[in-house]
Amino acid sequence: AKLRVGLLFGGCSGEHEVSLRSAQAIAEALQQSSGKYDLRPIYIHKDGRWQAGDLAEKVLAEATPPALMSAESEAASATNPSGELATTQNKVLERLRSSASIEGVDVWFPVLHGPNGEDGTIQGMLKLMQAPFVGSGVLGSAMGMDKLAMKMAFAQVGLPQVKYLPVLRHEVWSNPCVFPKLCDRIEEELGYPCFVKPANLGSSVGISKASTRAELETALDNAASYDRRLIVEAGISNPREVECAVLGNDQPKASVVGEISFQGDFYDYETKYTEGMADLTIPADLPAEVAQSIQDMAVRAFLAVDAAGLSRVDFFVESTGKVYINEINTMPGFTTTSMYPRLWAASGVSFSELVDRLVQLALEER
Ligand code: ADP
Ligand code: MG
Ligand code: MG
Repeated sequence: AKLRVGLLFGGCSGEHEVSLRSAQAIAEALQQSSGKYDLRPIYIHKDGRWQAGDLAEKVLAEATPPALMSAESEAASATNPSGELATTQNKVLERLRSSASIEGVDVWFPVLHGPNGEDGTIQGMLKLMQAPFVGSGVLGSAMGMDKLAMKMAFAQVGLPQVKYLPVLRHEVWSNPCVFPKLCDRIEEELGYPCFVKPANLGSSVGISKASTRAELETALDNAASYDRRLIVEAGISNPREVECAVLGNDQPKASVVGEISFQGDFYDYETKYTEGMADLTIPADLPAEVAQSIQDMAVRAFLAVDAAGLSRVDFFVESTGKVYINEINTMPGFTTTSMYPRLWAASGVSFSELVDRLVQLALEER
């Protein structure tokens, strides 16, 4: 019998559109896998509603949110109530349980990036539904999403990282006496330039580089509008940015290392998502022993946060040659041109083999 794969895509996050493109590529690969899989697309609207059926198929085929589709086709989908899985979020679990048993999804593939998808929330719900799913579980997803938790886990296994300070929103907003002291401490301990980040986001959203006191104040205020937890890091000047893909469960393997190059100050949102603003070099031009040590560190990082299935681990290489780990992404971009699948392609695993392997890893006993 065919394995029924519930493909979850879209989601309430700033990375909604990337998710549609990743899901489209994964769906195509699943369908090509010699009739092994029966695909069940489920679209998560930007407001959190889950929807199966015609609308989900259409969003997937066009990789475009319904708001941007023709009014006519959306009206047609809206009058088809059969696909609507839940109208309110607190009914989602109950409705999905029955729907999953009716439709009998065997394995879930959550192709969701960022908060509400990559952070353990969906993973918790799938776990409650007692269904296997692709990628990290609750702990790995949450640890991988939170830059403070992630850094604590990395420190524990001795991975080299830049100096950083944890900050809470209330230190930025609540008390006018605390704020100048916080800025003084950042200047003393980290200096300039520094990077101010919301702890739980991705795609560079809410991240600023600060080179003066005034920029630091603005950066903290801005990051605090995105998250309760913030992190401020010592900046590395003009680092090379290299990434390594990891695949597996308890004995994960690392791919070749790739490099991203771009014009501009840092790898910000615009650079990430504007066609032609960044170039990938695979494999990266690095001495063999440096590449090898990056691969080792990528696997250690994967195990340190309890990731599963897949992750992309990102590093900075300073002009001195010193390597620092930057972060792990437990559901990296997965479009046909994304770094993660391209790293595996260069390591001998094709896009469709990769997707197949991920589904098999989800079914493994952990
Ligand atoms: P995200 O999870 O949103 O991708 P990152 O922590 O990877 O956030 O930061 C985004 C980008 O900001 C990095 O790819 C890099 O270009 C720049 N950056 C972040 N931290 C530093 C740092 N400490 N030194 C130099 N550049 C940094
Ligand atoms: Mg990230
Ligand atoms: Mg990043």
